[in-house]
Amino acid sequence: MPPTAPTAATPEDLLRGAGLRVTAARVAALHAVGDKQHATTDDVLGSVRAELGKVSVQAVYDVLHALTDARLLRRIEPAGHPARYERRTGDNHHHVVCRACGAIGDVDCAVGHAPCLTPSDDHGFVVETAEVTYWGLCPGCRTSGSTAPI
Ligand SMILES: [Zn+2]
Ligand SMILES: [Zn+2]
Repeated sequence: MPPTAPTAATPEDLLRGAGLRVTAARVAALHAVGDKQHATTDDVLGSVRAELGKVSVQAVYDVLHALTDARLLRRIEPAGHPARYERRTGDNHHHVVCRACGAIGDVDCAVGHAPCLTPSDDHGFVVETAEVTYWGLCPGCRTSGSTAPI
C-alpha cells in the first residue's frame, strides 16, 4: 500500500473519501496533525481551539476517535507516553522513541511491505503487520546526559 501523502488531498477530500461528514472540528484536527506529525491529544486540542475557539476536550476526543476509526489518522501509543496521532497511515512504518523526553521519529519499514519482521514462532497465525518501537535517547537528551530510567 502506498503511503498516504498528507499534502495530496485536502482534509475535506479525505473526510468525504472516508464517508465521513465534513465538520469544522474534523477539518481542524486533520490540519493540526498535518502540521505536527505525532501530535498528542493536547497538541490537537490546542490548535483546534486556536482555529475554532471554544471546543470541548470531549469533542476533540470524539473527533480523534472517528478519524482513527476511518483510518485517516493512525494512533500510536508508546508505553509510558501519551498517545500520538499521525497522518502517515497504511505504510507499516515504525517509530524511534526517546525514553527520556518522548521525542518520536518515523522509521521506514525495513523491507518495504508488511509485516517487515518474521516472528520466530507465528503460532499458526497469518501475520499481517509488525509494529516496532525502537527505544533510546534522542541527540538532545544524549548530550544533556539524561539518565532517565526506562
Ligand atoms: Zn529526548
Ligand atoms: Zn510515524
